Amino acid sequence: MSRIQILSPRLANQIAAGEVVERPSSVIKELVENAIDAGSTRIDIEVEKGGTKLIRIRDNGSGIDKDDLPLALSRHATSKIITLDDLEGVASLGFRGEALASISSVARLDLVSSTDDSGAGWRVIAEGRDMLTQVTPGPHPRGTTVQVKDLFFNTPARRKFMRTEKTEFNHIDETFRRLALSRSDIALSLRHNQKPVYNLPAGNSQLEQEKRLASLLGRKLLDQALYIDVEATGLRLWGWVGLPTYSRGQADQQYFFVNQRVVKDKLVAHAIRQAYRDVLFHGRHPVFVLYLELDPSVVDVNVHPTKHEVRFRDGRLVHDFLFRTLHRALAEVRPDASDAIAP
Ligand code: ADP
Ligand code: MG
Repeated sequence: MSRIQILSPRLANQIAAGEVVERPSSVIKELVENAIDAGSTRIDIEVEKGGTKLIRIRDNGSGIDKDDLPLALSRHATSKIITLDDLEGVASLGFRGEALASISSVARLDLVSSTDDSGAGWRVIAEGRDMLTQVTPGPHPRGTTVQVKDLFFNTPARRKFMRTEKTEFNHIDETFRRLALSRSDIALSLRHNQKPVYNLPAGNSQLEQEKRLASLLGRKLLDQALYIDVEATGLRLWGWVGLPTYSRGQADQQYFFVNQRVVKDKLVAHAIRQAYRDVLFHGRHPVFVLYLELDPSVVDVNVHPTKHEVRFRDGRLVHDFLFRTLHRALAEVRPDASDAIAP
């Protein structure tokens, strides 16, 4: 038996990176979430070669103080919570303080940030080494730019798991769609290999949201969906539910957000499936973009590092509310849909 030793910070970070950084799209998710948490109103994303060569995310959020910069890249360092109580009602998307540490341990990371509009900012660079970061001056308007180059350059085993540029870009596209649907109040753009893919203005009205939905998922979905907005027992559900006549062979157009957070949850999926059960043929999948809003203290988001899963304090209540709301909405359209539900 060998002696027990404490892992070096770099190795510890690289191991942790296994949980949060699976592929280029996960880097984008983490960095955009940080930009959102920083109160940005505009976020621009640039990627090259499916994100394997370069990912650059620029925001106009709060920026990071010069003195905080080295800490930003350390593990378990966060500005978002201090106590366990804070975690109870956490409204920010991040709080684990792991993303930047993880990413910087498996890629060449360059972060420039400024907290004011003087034009002067500060930069930290981490080349996948131990977190010995130096802070140097770097011009930047208020906000932050994070550049991630050569993902997994120092972890060949992980690099092998990356797929073709096209596949990696498809994952990025999907991640972008989820993030963009989660916050229509933030302007977002995506460029791939120097070509614009999306350029979405901010807008909170139903019309502006529908425009964004159409840019991301196509006009057809909008034309084939019902808009709902129902509130009861402290819960609000709103968004677009596809008509039974617009089902799909795959569950590939299903978007569900809990308090503006992208969520894939078994209980939610079950409630929706039940609601569609009588109107969809077996093997067909409904299309939906739905937003559930509830008191943050009755939902636990600290279930998994990627935070895709949540736990509701009263799962039964949420399940019944989702089921009833959707069942009722779909029942209203059933008369004319009933003879058109052939697969
Ligand atoms: P977490 O988001 O869980 O706090 P991260 O590793 O993602 O952990 O980020 C660490 C910290 O760095 C954040 O808590 C925040 O203070 C700061 N930070 C990261 N990205 C940004 C950004 N784009 N704008 C402002 N601050 C940021
Ligand atoms: Mg984060």
